[in-house]
Amino acid sequence: MTALLEIKNLSVNYGGIQALQDINLTVQAGEVVTLIGANGAGKTTTLRAISRLVPPRAGAISYDGRDISRARPDEVVRLGIAQSPEGRRMLGRQSVLDNLKLGAYTRSDRAGIAADIEQQFKRFPRLAERRNQLAATLSGGEQQMLAIARALMSRPRLLLLDEPSLGLAPLVVREIFAIISELHAAGVTILLVEQNANLALQSADRGYVLEAGRLTIEGPAQELLNDERVKRAYLG
Ligand code: ATP
Repeated sequence: MTALLEIKNLSVNYGGIQALQDINLTVQAGEVVTLIGANGAGKTTTLRAISRLVPPRAGAISYDGRDISRARPDEVVRLGIAQSPEGRRMLGRQSVLDNLKLGAYTRSDRAGIAADIEQQFKRFPRLAERRNQLAATLSGGEQQMLAIARALMSRPRLLLLDEPSLGLAPLVVREIFAIISELHAAGVTILLVEQNANLALQSADRGYVLEAGRLTIEGPAQELLNDERVKRAYLG
C-alpha cells in the first residue's frame, strides 16, 4: 500500500540553522499520526515543509503517489492537504463566516461551499452562534475551532494540525480532541503536532518523536505511551 503522505530524507535550513535533518515519515490513509517534541524541535517546520511554505534543502515529499516537493502552496491545498496553523493565525478583522469562506479559496462550487459552511456550523455550534462576530473577539478555544473549521473548508484528505491544544483550558482541550476523534472516525487523515504528548498519543494510531531536528523514536502510539524514554522526556 502506498502511503498517503511520504516524507523521505527531508532536511530544511533557515539560513545557517538546520531545522530538520534527514526526516523520514509516512502517514497512511485514515491514520492519525502525531509528531511530538519539545519547543523548537522542528515540528512546525515539518508541517510548513509539507504545505510548501518553506523549501526543502534536501529530500522529497510525496502525497497520494505524486511528488509535491516543488508544488505551490495553493496546489498542495487543491490536492487535498490543509493546515490549521499554530497560534490560530486568523484574520482577526474578518468575521467567522468570512474566515470559513476564505478556507474554501481554492474551490468554486458555490453550493458545495455553502453546504460545507453549514456542516461546520453543525460540527461547531459555538461558531454558528458567532458567525458574524470578528475572529479576533473569539475566545482561544473558539479561535482554535475556527482554525480547524477553516482548514476543513478545503475538503482535505490530509489535515495538518499544529498544536491545537496550545494555551487552552483543560475542558476546551478535551472538546478539541473529541473533534479530532470525530474527524478520524469520519475518515480524515490527520498529522497532529503537539506538545501535549500524552493527549496526542492517546488520540493517535502512531507517533514520531522529533528532537533537535531529527526523528529519534517512532512506533504505534500505545508503544510510545509505554516507552521509558518517551515517558521520561515527554509524559512527565
Ligand atoms: P514550537 O513548538 O516552539 O513551535 P517546533 O518544534 O514547532 O517548536 P520549529 O518552529 O519548527 O519548532 O523550529 C525549529 C527550529 O527552527 C528552531 O530552532 C527555530 O528557532 C528555527 N526557526 C523556525 N522558524 C524560523 C525562521 N523563520 N527563521 C529562522 N529560524 C527559524
